[in-house]
Amino acid sequence: AGSGRVRLVVANWKLHHTHLEAIAFLERLWHLLDVEDYRRAEIAICPAFTALRSAQLTIETDGMPYRLGAQDVFWEPSGAYTGEVSVPMLAKLDVKYVIVGHSERRRLFGETDDVVAKKAAAVASGGLVPIVCVGEVAEERAGGTTEAVLERQLDTVLTTYPVEALGELVIAYEPVWAIGSGTPATPEDAEHVARFLRDRLARRASEAVAARVRILYGGSVDVGNAVAFLAQADIDGLLVGGASLDPERFAQLLGGR
Ligand code: PGA
Repeated sequence: AGSGRVRLVVANWKLHHTHLEAIAFLERLWHLLDVEDYRRAEIAICPAFTALRSAQLTIETDGMPYRLGAQDVFWEPSGAYTGEVSVPMLAKLDVKYVIVGHSERRRLFGETDDVVAKKAAAVASGGLVPIVCVGEVAEERAGGTTEAVLERQLDTVLTTYPVEALGELVIAYEPVWAIGSGTPATPEDAEHVARFLRDRLARRASEAVAARVRILYGGSVDVGNAVAFLAQADIDGLLVGGASLDPERFAQLLGGR
């Protein structure tokens, strides 16, 4: 849209793909896409933690133009936190992006706005880029509180976020009712919300920050609707779950053959 923002398409594999399946996926995608596809958008792959090392080596060995992302992280760099993974550990794996506050983390693992804010700040302070997920559930939409919910989710993150890193921030608008449901938001509704979030950023941070922050749409994105979302002025990319698991389908979504 002439904004100067580089488009970003993110594959969120959730709890799918072993490290061997991740290697096979990357080799296949590499075969399916060509130079033109890579000019259209930055492509980030977010496998499970167990596949990050193999994905890193595969990407490095073959010189693939893919970015690596993680699906979650803990905010402390090290310590007595059994089961957790830290930002410095991810940085060593050449991870650039970290999905933070996905609705599945909020709903199934009790992550509050404050937890999400702590994680986002830790990611940015560690030199990585958080993809902060926000979105309303169906009842909130029906009750007309969508904007209040998004404001609360975004503002809590902005309160503790390192100011100098604000321009790099990525926000993913994912209406919870659209995730995995086969019923995406309409591109017009998603654009309306993206515009709302950008205006909020302008007021809470600055116009300059609002112009730089990339806002993604996620929720039942697939081959048939990706282009329509990307055509919206304030939508700078996509967060793709189900349609990112198969390399053929994901390549088609990205515009490849
Ligand atoms: P979906 O998931 O594309 O399968 O709807 C998106 C997400 O949860 O990030």
